[in-house]
Amino acid sequence: MYQTREQDIIPEYWYNIVPDLPEQLSPPKDSQRDKSSIEMLNRILPRKLLEQEFSFKRKEKIPDEVMELYHQIGRPTPLVRAINLEKKLGYSGKIYFKYEGATVTGSHKINTALPQAFYAASEGVQEVVTETGAGQWGTATALAASLNGMRSKVFMVSTSFYQKPLRKQIMEIYGAKVVPSPSSETEFGRKTLGERADHPGSLGIAISEAVEYALDHEYKYMLGSVMNSVITHQSVIGLETAKQLEIEGEEADVMIGCVGGGSNFSGFVFPFIAGRAEMIASTAEEVPKLTHGKFGYDFIDTAGILPQLKMFSLGAGFIPPGIYAGGLRYHGAAPALSMLVHSGRIKAEDVGEDEVLQAMRTFASTQGIIPAPESGHAIASAIRYVRRDPKSKKNIIVNVSGHGLLDLSIFSRGEK
Ligand SMILES: *Cc1c(COP(=O)(O)O)cnc(C)c1O
Repeated sequence: MYQTREQDIIPEYWYNIVPDLPEQLSPPKDSQRDKSSIEMLNRILPRKLLEQEFSFKRKEKIPDEVMELYHQIGRPTPLVRAINLEKKLGYSGKIYFKYEGATVTGSHKINTALPQAFYAASEGVQEVVTETGAGQWGTATALAASLNGMRSKVFMVSTSFYQKPLRKQIMEIYGAKVVPSPSSETEFGRKTLGERADHPGSLGIAISEAVEYALDHEYKYMLGSVMNSVITHQSVIGLETAKQLEIEGEEADVMIGCVGGGSNFSGFVFPFIAGRAEMIASTAEEVPKLTHGKFGYDFIDTAGILPQLKMFSLGAGFIPPGIYAGGLRYHGAAPALSMLVHSGRIKAEDVGEDEVLQAMRTFASTQGIIPAPESGHAIASAIRYVRRDPKSKKNIIVNVSGHGLLDLSIFSRGEK
């Protein structure tokens, strides 16, 4: 363990699963409106990102500048054996967790924000634009922009803007301009406000505003999940995990993660796809896209501005209930992940709020880490797995995508 320098655990290349999929990945499809949404992507995304989005190359070199930034924001993140949790559950095997909450922004989202911002800055762009719901993606965007010498603008869903002032404050400290969406800064926002002055906003509206703003000002737009290039960047999680397990002299028997758009889960498990590990994707019972969704083309965003992707989806018009795991409310899941769930290589299961809250408490009181509610789903699935067969000797590896220190209010709601 001690001979390996920390830097050597961060891989030199990201892994793109596309050439290793059982079938060819279906490309994004135009939304058949008057304007081409794919052409629009060409205007709002950095060239290098587009190249990665449609790449068939297995390996993608991590630029030296991004490597340096990865190190600065806390990579490699730790892989910890959860001995206290094993004891508490009376498990005969081992449980490890990869802890993405250890990055400075508190989740895995910075792993893709950094390269996206770097590619935008390399093209001489002065400002990047995005939307955020709960605030995790906006936080990662804000820091990635400032580390690459750019301004950032974040359209934050109005209800979250007023109800989650802490994340908004963090973004502002990082240097971002955060505006509640709908805003008066875009035509779409003004139109929406015209219809209802106290509109609560939605992720769909915020995306529309961010894209319009990026187009109008020739800024670049940042993508938080779902797209293949994002999944490729997130492979840093799984590649580090593989190296860390090798150092421990262990192998993965079971890998478990949570799925919103699918980026942390895919980034975690895809580098292991050729192996024999069992893979379980944990989704919210209220947003059961992988277990009850339809596999086919659907819109990325509610407003239908971005292209369609072939994926598991509950329908772009699906209105999720206001569950506390905001990051899991998305209606669809990344195309490559969807394909592998469809083919049966990856299993999916839903977990409900009570079980998640219980799992979060168990994890916090044994390992000391308060996980993000999203990550709580993965932990709950791991605990379920153990309870089915406590005498098993399997190595269970869980991805804990973020910490929950800014979500503490969910605990005081009490056990329903
Ligand atoms: C955004 C988020 C998720 C869900 O997004 P994925 O793209 O599925 O990873 C999960 N956990 C945390 C902590 C998040 O911030």
